[in-house]
Amino acid sequence: MKRFLRDSNRWIVLCLLWICSILFLTGCGRKSKEQIISKVDTAMGTIIQQTIYLNLTDSEEENKTAEDIIQLVERLEKQELSWRLDTSMVYQINQNAGAEEGTGLLEPLALELEQVLQISEESKGALDVTIGDVVRLWDIDAYCAGEKQDFQLPASDEIQKALEGTGYEKISIKDQKIFLPEGIHLDLGAVGKGLACERIKAYLEEQDSVKGAVISVGGSILTFGEKPDGTAWKVGIVNPHDTGNDIGYLTLNGQWCVSTSGDYERYVEVDGKRYHHIIDPATGYPADSKVSSVTILGKDGLITDALSTACFVLGVEDGLKLAQRFGVEALFIDQDGKQVLTEGMNHYFGI
Ligand code: ADP
Ligand code: MG
Repeated sequence: MKRFLRDSNRWIVLCLLWICSILFLTGCGRKSKEQIISKVDTAMGTIIQQTIYLNLTDSEEENKTAEDIIQLVERLEKQELSWRLDTSMVYQINQNAGAEEGTGLLEPLALELEQVLQISEESKGALDVTIGDVVRLWDIDAYCAGEKQDFQLPASDEIQKALEGTGYEKISIKDQKIFLPEGIHLDLGAVGKGLACERIKAYLEEQDSVKGAVISVGGSILTFGEKPDGTAWKVGIVNPHDTGNDIGYLTLNGQWCVSTSGDYERYVEVDGKRYHHIIDPATGYPADSKVSSVTILGKDGLITDALSTACFVLGVEDGLKLAQRFGVEALFIDQDGKQVLTEGMNHYFGI
């Protein structure tokens, strides 16, 4: 009998402890609530679409992630990438072209520019971030934006002259300093959106409340984390011959970057001929590689964006080799609508 009481007492004590611990956990535990933010803005001259899945603590009343991201992109443009604004690093670098002492670079831009120059080299100049003067001569963007009317084909001697002011190989980076010879200018239009995706990714990694996000900066898309229901991200691939529709989509889990370059994004048509915004640095004319769009899938947005432009210029055969060298997946759609994929891309692409 005594023993029974001792045992039952022990049970009562254990049960009381268990009840107390549940009360303690519910009382002090941080309850959380799920929230989805969807936002569309323009920044860096492009459309930014965000869908962010949050897990907010009870004490968190308002979440500013989406606004912070827009500010981050605006700062990136204003302080680092713009070739127009005198507040930016690129503007300073161009101003100092020819100066013996070069221009000091801050991280992470120093490393990013080194990566861009490496891709320029690996692509044998198909990506050339000094192509700005030729781009401006064609000025396709201005015609597309309605800032200029009556499209004029540049004369071939003008193109040759503008080409003389190009050449990524004339740029060097040493000890966190960049050196440009006189007459050479940097223009990061081909990599800015992917670079923005990388900066956004670094910001999201520090946000405890963000569980997942899909964010597009123009033609570069970042997927991050997971959706609360555990389903995969779906990223549509635009049909370049019917831009209102997708030809299929990528099914992605976790963090990826997808960049697309296409001849349908910005172009002018004259007498049935399309003049688009991606220039072949070897000729100074819009790239004539028989490709209508290239989509690159990889982990790093700067690399996918740089490679999408380079592969568009190179065309299917050399573009595939370049993509393989960088360990990314690629999907080419040529002017006849034929699709060519790297082997790995088949795991992600579906109709
Ligand atoms: P988008 O900017 O539409 O996403 P891309 O990433 O392919 O497309 O970049 C195209 C932009 O890059 C052009 O608008 C121009 O400013 C610049 N550009 C064009 N051709 C080249 C090239 N061969 N190398 C580097 N930059 C280029
Ligand atoms: Mg690009």
